[in-house]
Amino acid sequence: MDIETQLRAALAEREAAGLLRRLRVTETPRPFASNDYLGLARHPRLVAAAQEAAGRYGAGSTASRHVCGNLPVHAALDEALAVFKRREAALAFSSGYAAALGTIPALVGKGDAVLLDKLSHASLIDGARLSGATLRVFPHNHLAALEKLLTTEAARARRILIVTEAVFSMDGDTAPLREIVALKDRFDGKAWLLVDEAHATGVFGPGGRGLAAELGLEGKIEVEMGTLSKALGSSGGFIAGSRLLVDTLVNHARSAIYSTAPNPASCGAALEALALVGEAEGEARRKRLWGAIHRFAAGTSLPAQSPIFPLLCGTEEQALTASARLAEQSLVLPAIRYPTVPRGKARLRVSLTADTPLAEIERLLALL
Ligand SMILES: *Cc1c(COP(=O)(O)O)cnc(C)c1O
Repeated sequence: MDIETQLRAALAEREAAGLLRRLRVTETPRPFASNDYLGLARHPRLVAAAQEAAGRYGAGSTASRHVCGNLPVHAALDEALAVFKRREAALAFSSGYAAALGTIPALVGKGDAVLLDKLSHASLIDGARLSGATLRVFPHNHLAALEKLLTTEAARARRILIVTEAVFSMDGDTAPLREIVALKDRFDGKAWLLVDEAHATGVFGPGGRGLAAELGLEGKIEVEMGTLSKALGSSGGFIAGSRLLVDTLVNHARSAIYSTAPNPASCGAALEALALVGEAEGEARRKRLWGAIHRFAAGTSLPAQSPIFPLLCGTEEQALTASARLAEQSLVLPAIRYPTVPRGKARLRVSLTADTPLAEIERLLALL
């Protein structure tokens, strides 16, 4: 069979299973579908900062950080991220995906082990696979299983990297970070912890500094990952931690070394967002967001854990039907299907933002 026939057959198979994805053009903001939790992506201050950075540094960075692409705006962003996370150093990447893909293989390889929460984001799974380390998956948030894996792997692996998320992207629940830190600390520095705060940055903790900050774990997690693309309204990813960690990434993270430095406009916007989240306006936006979260939780009897609510539908077909019926009422709730979530766990994923109108929340609750 020729390649074209094979590719057509694979897509037809997906379509028959209700799993075909198509890109749709979205022009207006979607109140229940975006990850723009603080409503900053269209904020005039961020837009102006992006324009200003583009005007000053250009539309592109022209080269990787190591060649001539490391502009003042990148140095300022790295520094601002380190200050924001209260760590020695930080490094911004072009995306959260690139941060994961570069960082995990920079820290572990053959002879090492990565212990990964079962519900971890694709970028973390891909980074772990790329590293060549032994990949061990523990059931979601299962501390006893993690402890067992740690004990087994400590006997044979050179290094262990535990990988989890602060807020899980498709379920909206949080990780027991205090307990995981305590477990990891029993292994005398042979086990490090990477926490991806993609959905917690800007949303949790004092000044929006994340879930680790909220739980009093500042400085206790070796590898703090986040994205600039969600609550911070820009695009890019970052890692914060010790100077040694960042020096290691500068030398070994291939997604940073062999890729053009992050876009100046995105960096300018991210810098403005970092300032804004710490100000009274950021506080007010977080307050509005949490008000929306509590209202939606009360209306659905789901726990108010984060801006993300999974409305489980069961089959892929049921999720698509529910999504289509809400779309008729001009409510866009994406149907999340396999392979993003396990088979039989298809869902509508509701994400709330500080700008979601309360009247829209009431309308959605009534329709549900
Ligand atoms: C969105 C997301 C990423 C990727 O971040 P981008 O900046 O969009 O590439 C990584 N991890 C998690 C948990 C995410 O939800």
